[in-house]
Amino acid sequence: FNAPAMFNLGGRVALVTGAGSGIGQHIAIGLAQCGADVACLDRREDDGLAKTLDAITAVGKKAIAITADVTNKDSLVEAVAKTEAELGDLAIAVNSAGIANANPAEEMSEEQFQTLMDINLKGVFLSCQAEANAMLKHGKGAIVNIASMSGVIVNRGLMQVHYNSSKAGVIHLTKSMAMEWVDGGLRVNAISPGYTATPMNTRPEMVHQTKEFEDQTPMHRMASVEEMVGPTIFLASDAASYCTGVNLLVDGGFCCW
Ligand code: NAD
Repeated sequence: FNAPAMFNLGGRVALVTGAGSGIGQHIAIGLAQCGADVACLDRREDDGLAKTLDAITAVGKKAIAITADVTNKDSLVEAVAKTEAELGDLAIAVNSAGIANANPAEEMSEEQFQTLMDINLKGVFLSCQAEANAMLKHGKGAIVNIASMSGVIVNRGLMQVHYNSSKAGVIHLTKSMAMEWVDGGLRVNAISPGYTATPMNTRPEMVHQTKEFEDQTPMHRMASVEEMVGPTIFLASDAASYCTGVNLLVDGGFCCW
């Protein structure tokens, strides 16, 4: 066997949702650095996607930008079709699009709950469905969903019942789909980041808590966004060929305490 070759993504086509910022952006670039051509999807039309594309073309790989909302099934089906038409058969998908906000449970409106669930849970379901429908035709493929340690533990001091529930849902949805599609040649896994330094953690209710997060984390620091890239590439690559239905915690040891 050849261990470095197991991580080589040369000749593969990937689709990344939430590729305009943070974890998704860095994963899209990391997949390209390992050899993949990457379709980069985000709902935002600012310069985030353009920066992702620039970084991918700088390493000599192909990239396309797709503006779409993961709550819209038709847009996702079109996104997969565009990816295959312009780059080739879809081999890897990483679903990172998500939002976070907070409110005490007894005050949270139905709308706030529903909007987050639509993006974080239904959005991952619809993304996986569209991606798997292409991959099942090829008889192979690897999907990595970005869940959260908040799907495993309740973050002390953060009132985000909808977020925590959505991420617990992503973890179990990942296992469920892994089992449904195992005979179709697909692997479906998740990574669950701990506190990671991205724009999501610059929202007002979070900035003052950064020190507290660091104190609560066994490694005494937040993750850098780059630290989510390696675990995702591992699960997306042949190095993880016997892994499916895994939820890989990438949390600096947080869930051990
Ligand atoms: P981010 O805000 O930097 O990036 C999220 C991206 O998703 C943005 O570009 C946004 O435009 C896009 N997006 C949001 N809703 C969308 C929609 N409906 N359709 C298409 N795109 C949409 O956040 P991040 O920190 O990179 O988070 C990425 C993922 O990682 C999320 O699922 C988040 O829940 C998860 N996560 C983050 C942390 C953390 O500490 N930052 C920890 C655990 C899990």
